[in-house]
Amino acid sequence: ARFATLLVVTGFLSTVGHLGAPAFGALDDDLVALDIVSKIHTDRSLTARASSDFGHIVEAAPNGVFHPVSPADIAALIRFSLYQQTPFTVAPRGKGHSSRGQALAPGGIVVDMPSLGRGDHGHRVNVSIDGMYVDVGGEQLWFDVLHATLKHGLTPRVWTDYLRITVGGTLSNAGIGGQVFRHGPQISNVRELDVVTGTGDMITCSPGNNSDLFYGALGGLGQFGVITRARVGLERAPKRVKWVRLAYTDVHQFTADQELLISNGAGFDYVEGQVQLNRTLTEGRRSSSFFSAAELARLTELALGTGSSAVYYIEGAMYYDDGSASTVDRKLEALLEELSFVPGFAFVRDASYVQFLDRVGQEEQKLRSAGAWDVPHPWLNLFVPRSRIHDFAAGVFDGVLRGTRPVGLILMYPMNRDRWDDRMTTVTPDEDVFYAVGLLRSAVAAGDLERLERENEAALGLCDRAGIGCKQYLPHHASQEGWRRHFGAKWDRVAALKATYDPRAILSPGQGIFPAAV
Ligand code: FAD
Repeated sequence: ARFATLLVVTGFLSTVGHLGAPAFGALDDDLVALDIVSKIHTDRSLTARASSDFGHIVEAAPNGVFHPVSPADIAALIRFSLYQQTPFTVAPRGKGHSSRGQALAPGGIVVDMPSLGRGDHGHRVNVSIDGMYVDVGGEQLWFDVLHATLKHGLTPRVWTDYLRITVGGTLSNAGIGGQVFRHGPQISNVRELDVVTGTGDMITCSPGNNSDLFYGALGGLGQFGVITRARVGLERAPKRVKWVRLAYTDVHQFTADQELLISNGAGFDYVEGQVQLNRTLTEGRRSSSFFSAAELARLTELALGTGSSAVYYIEGAMYYDDGSASTVDRKLEALLEELSFVPGFAFVRDASYVQFLDRVGQEEQKLRSAGAWDVPHPWLNLFVPRSRIHDFAAGVFDGVLRGTRPVGLILMYPMNRDRWDDRMTTVTPDEDVFYAVGLLRSAVAAGDLERLERENEAALGLCDRAGIGCKQYLPHHASQEGWRRHFGAKWDRVAALKATYDPRAILSPGQGIFPAAV
């Protein structure tokens, strides 16, 4: 029976797509192997979906898609891979919201992380009111974490702009948004992780326990293990938000006010910013989820009237609840008096906390109905040191992107580096304050993708030539030399962690950092 089982496994694998025959006798338990193989799906519809991502730029088919029901299944899959003479690669896939194939596994196995949370495999979002934390499965969407914690009047402190992405996916990068200036990125708000390593071990880690894996996995681009649980700190949730946009035509005033706001402990609870190049105003959409058509018309007049190449907005949010409802307007007014936006160009909305946090989800619905969601997204996200942000703005907004056709969004907002933990794998510029700049553009018309890619290359080239010292966020580098430069002083640590926790280099191959061992 044992031999027959192995034959079945071997036969299945050869039809799965030449993953390599398991070394007979090496498997400790062929029944376990059979159970694993039965969770690998090779139907075209599933492998096709796992062959691409939100970016729609890279395509590569896996041999199969694995549907785990528990973290132990993922560990068994990895051990099963390691039993092969040539191990197959394994990529955890959250929602595949990467832009450049980071969650793909060409010729390997994609782990469909949402399968962990499906069916009756137990609750994978557990709030501890006493501990002020939530234990959450790596496959969970931040949107669901929000709703589960709000039932207890609690909330995580730091949010990405979009909530339909997974906990494991954002913690493998950093998880940034408008609360980072105060609380650090999402990775700075994690107390403990469960990780299945590339050696097939299931390890619980924290700052005091297996700390090298804990710090390595946070921002680790999926290179050292699969995050199956994270313990995330919570605070009391506000009920409502004063959501504000303030317009500027002078980039120096815009950044000066942003930096004032991120140094001001009692001001906004959230600070971001956007750059709206003039053509975006004159030719872009005639209303947005924030601005009415009349407001956009006023902003266009402002841009054209002053001859500025762009209008800049600070986006701020001030939280409040029943206790502070009577004072929030006065507090907001006092804060706005300190700032130098164009007089008459402050726009204030009142929203529930959930509406505010889920604002991009609402935008997604509109883009989907307009057929503008499932299009290529050659996004480029950069961390730019504060000392060079004006050189960057002059070179990129007034140079590379001058006159470009409007197709998407440009974000720009500062963060305090002391809220980041340098032991984590994410890299940032080496300055107290740096800016996140997101060129979040979509290719909607023929020729857009090539043009946007050329503009991205030109922006990166400009940073290199001018020695601006940018670091990519959600990084993509085509060569290992590029990755070495990206990680800089952290490279040796990254390589050592890889040798310890994924020595055959099977995990998250789509990042292209380490070639798989043969
Ligand atoms: P995937 O794309 O599925 O995976 C990303 C990488 O992580 C892959 O290499 C994958 O193998 C690995 N991975 C996935 N799950 C795990 C796991 N459990 N353990 C270990 N490795 C894993 N990011 C921000 O920081 N701030 C934002 O404001 C923000 N806004 C966004 C808005 C939109 C509309 C979109 C599409 C993305 C946005 N992102 C933002 C980027 C987002 O954080 C990344 O796409 C991230 O990768 C999460 O997406 P995902 O969960 O689908 O991960």
